[in-house]
Amino acid sequence: MTPDLIFHNAVLYFPGTAPFNGKHPAGPGTLPPVTALAVTGSRITALGDDKTLMAMAGPDTRVLDLDRKLVLPGFIDTHFHFYEWAVNLSSIDFAKTRDFAGMETAIREKAALLGPGHWILGQGFNESDWPENRMPDRLDLDRAAPDNPVCIWRCDLHLAVANSMALSLAGIHTATPDPSDGVIVRDGTGIPTGVLKEMAPNLIRNVVPPLTFDQLLDNMEKAMAKAHAMGLTGIHDIRLMGGEEGAVALRAWQALHAAGRLVLRCHVTLPGEMTRQAVALGLCTGFGDDLLRIGHLKFFSDGGMGARTAWMTEPYLDAAYGMPLTPIKEIEQAVVQADAAGLSCMVHAVGDRAVHEVLSVFAKVEALNQSACRIPHRIEHAQMILPQDLDTLGRLKNLAVSCQPNNMSLDISMIDQCAGARGRFAYNFKNILNTGVPTMFSSDAPVADPNPFSGIFSAVTRKRMNHTPETGWFPDQCLTVDQAVQGYTATPAAASGMGEITGSLAVGNRADLIVTDRNIFTVDPKEIPETRVILTLFNGKVVYDRP
Ligand SMILES: [Zn+2]
Repeated sequence: MTPDLIFHNAVLYFPGTAPFNGKHPAGPGTLPPVTALAVTGSRITALGDDKTLMAMAGPDTRVLDLDRKLVLPGFIDTHFHFYEWAVNLSSIDFAKTRDFAGMETAIREKAALLGPGHWILGQGFNESDWPENRMPDRLDLDRAAPDNPVCIWRCDLHLAVANSMALSLAGIHTATPDPSDGVIVRDGTGIPTGVLKEMAPNLIRNVVPPLTFDQLLDNMEKAMAKAHAMGLTGIHDIRLMGGEEGAVALRAWQALHAAGRLVLRCHVTLPGEMTRQAVALGLCTGFGDDLLRIGHLKFFSDGGMGARTAWMTEPYLDAAYGMPLTPIKEIEQAVVQADAAGLSCMVHAVGDRAVHEVLSVFAKVEALNQSACRIPHRIEHAQMILPQDLDTLGRLKNLAVSCQPNNMSLDISMIDQCAGARGRFAYNFKNILNTGVPTMFSSDAPVADPNPFSGIFSAVTRKRMNHTPETGWFPDQCLTVDQAVQGYTATPAAASGMGEITGSLAVGNRADLIVTDRNIFTVDPKEIPETRVILTLFNGKVVYDRP
């Protein structure tokens, strides 16, 4: 069949300049040097030299001379809270806010725009990088917007701050008990300060009027377009615990799919609390089609380091050991049940103690040898990992890890402050990769900016976005660009059972690919975050064409 599209004079990326997780299927250096690629329908149908492929062109073939531009497989972000990110498109983004004044100005402007009484929501603030170096409280927010309910989430989503009106609408008073799995922070006299930890912000979430279903679909469509502009063609959509948005989000994906509006490959997780029901229904990980699939069951073993709720083997420099969230025994029982039923599990584990306990669970489950899972289980974050646990990680056969380079750049100051020299166990991308475990990257958006080029920059340089510290933070853990790119493409595709559908420029795979304005393998790494996508193809169709 005549190709619909031919790229020629291109630089095509194949994992193999560095071995693919230590074991490239074809062996390094065996792939032919190819400069042209053909797309027919939704698939990549030929790779080769310019002359051979140009000869395939018919009268209706679109032929593009890429002028030696780089072509990469579309990126897959393996930990993405897409519903929250889409909903957040209508709220304040504090990712670039640098101090209290900036935060208050943004809230004041939103209040002026919306008028009194309307909810103002925001996310992404990171006070640990602000000069004031203290947590905002209700009084700061009252000053900015006394006549609107305001609630803003910290970048790690484990903590939120509400103003007085929001607290009162949510019924949070001096006498309100802490919810289970959450903390209402109070001052010396017992009055809530506005700071809400872990599940406590759900008290606020519950009283914020939700978007209508149609508004949600529109927001999700806008969010998909935003993702294409960053080079994303696939995500693993992760549900938060305790909310009801899981069902709404899955319905929304299905509605978009039915209407032909789904233009991302989605691997959608299910809440771990629903294990019994999911097993009873006979759902298995991987159920669905090439666009929309049931993914992993998601569990939480601990919290986050920013809120000092990640569970540690040694105390924080400024707090105790953090805490387990769902009891490990409970997680173990659920994982055993799910594993035998073909439902793969992912467990959020941030602190080194949590990672240790979760690895023990997966080791026990593997020893039972009852698995019906074709898709590996996962540890999410593995933010702190001790050397002895790396050994366990390397021994497990049916496990993958999803790490967040973008978050590392956000967390450098915070980890220096709360863990000091133990920071050397944090974000150990190279050690983790060297165990041979499939190592996938992700942003945890909206926790961090989902732009994969920022993530590649972080993994390669271990610097903040402002290029500090100059020599990188624990630089022995720096990756090569090739390793980082694999973590956003071939590895997540393979570790979610999609390796023959997406994640690499291979004949027969769907044409999910991007063209970039510079070659990230040859530019100075400090330029990588500036990389712009020129063209994004999803399923063979152009979904983003840079104006
Ligand atoms: Zn997350």
